[in-house]
Amino acid sequence: MSPVIETEEHKALRAAVSALGKRYGRDYIARTVAEGRHPAELWAEAGKLGYLGVNLPEEYGGGGGGVAELCLVLEELGAAGAPLLMLVVSPAICGTVIARFGTEEQKRAWLPGIADGTRTMAFAITEPDAGSNSHRITTTARRDGDDWLLTGRKVFISGVDIADAVLVVGRTEDARTGRLKPCLFIVPPDAEGFGRRPIDMELNAAEKQFELTLDDVRLPADALVGDEDAGLLQLFAGLNPERIMTAAFAIGMGRYALERALEYARERSVWKTPIGAHQAIAHPLAQAHIDLELARLMMQKAAHLYDAGDDIGAGEAANMAKYAAGEACVKAVDQAVHTLGGNGLTREFGLASLITASRVARIAPVSREMILNYVSHQSLGLPKSY
Ligand SMILES: Cc1cc2nc3c(=O)[nH]c(=O)nc-3n(C[C@H](O)[C@H](O)[C@H](O)COP(=O)(O)OP(=O)(O)OC[C@H]3O[C@@H](n4cnc5c(N)ncnc54)[C@H](O)[C@@H]3O)c2cc1C
Repeated sequence: MSPVIETEEHKALRAAVSALGKRYGRDYIARTVAEGRHPAELWAEAGKLGYLGVNLPEEYGGGGGGVAELCLVLEELGAAGAPLLMLVVSPAICGTVIARFGTEEQKRAWLPGIADGTRTMAFAITEPDAGSNSHRITTTARRDGDDWLLTGRKVFISGVDIADAVLVVGRTEDARTGRLKPCLFIVPPDAEGFGRRPIDMELNAAEKQFELTLDDVRLPADALVGDEDAGLLQLFAGLNPERIMTAAFAIGMGRYALERALEYARERSVWKTPIGAHQAIAHPLAQAHIDLELARLMMQKAAHLYDAGDDIGAGEAANMAKYAAGEACVKAVDQAVHTLGGNGLTREFGLASLITASRVARIAPVSREMILNYVSHQSLGLPKSY
């Protein structure tokens, strides 16, 4: 890749993270899944090496880089078969929002731990009755003296079992208009009134999803992150990195699957030549490679715009990168499984479970259809049906 797109530092970071990822690899993740636990050793080592906080400010223990560096870390870990989903949440969303809008105290309390991996934060926006329509969320914060009381429900929240806190998107009532405004709260999972229930997901992943109930959870005034009146802007400051990082997650998984298929297609012969010589096998793999490369370019564009402070431009690119990467990942995994024939469905080769896992990037954090809606309305100026 030309140095205009990726600097020498980026390439060195890629190589170093890739080496770490390969040292752990798919077998390590498979073991943690079988044992029902978080990939704590990889998380801790990546934290010590500074990879988990590459995007966070240096003065709070981070690497002083941006999302461009963080998405590269996640992509390379994924390409090595050892993705860390919580990177999408803890440093990318929560770390970014706190670094950009938190008070000095919140930054000092959270950023060094998020950066070195000793503290983890989950992120909760999705609600059972709102789903893709996050304008409809009803988790509500009301004042009680200096405190806040937070009440509502959340669903599909990743990593609550290992989180030191959950950054919860709620709403406060505008005293003048009575309308509900989005705002963000740091909620400790041991707070009274905070309940969690694991969701039985058919996903072969170390990170678990939870349904949360918040029943008049009492929070101090300083649990609010940022300005009560600038909620949406602050929210999107965190959601764009989430989309860019989901693209990285998808590209990493797609690359991993493609690599397994290529190894197999070069070796496996059932006629005179290896199956990779048949164009019916070779061309879809070549297409998968092209689609992943294109998705990566859009991811790099989105990260570049975001890191340069162009939140609006980054919004469109982050959505398109997430879309392209999700589709490229689903297709690459599907083709990889097919390339291995019967072995594509064995536990030994470990590709079949990626069929389910790859769908996550099509659904979350914003579905394929909602991105197509966004591009139809925002980029192309078409009217809305809903
Ligand atoms: C593994 C996993 C981890 C997750 N982790 C988190 C997390 O940590 N924190 C968090 O807050 N959330 C998390 N989520 C939730 C995720 O963001 C949501 O699942 C996602 O936003 C979709 O919402 P929904 O599931 O309610 O689907 P729905 O909104 O019910 O949508 C269902 C289907 O209808 C389609 N649809 C809906 N509206 C329209 C429309 N207007 N036009 C066309 N099609 C439409 C959608 O595209 C989708 O295909 C996670 C989800 C998964 C699967």
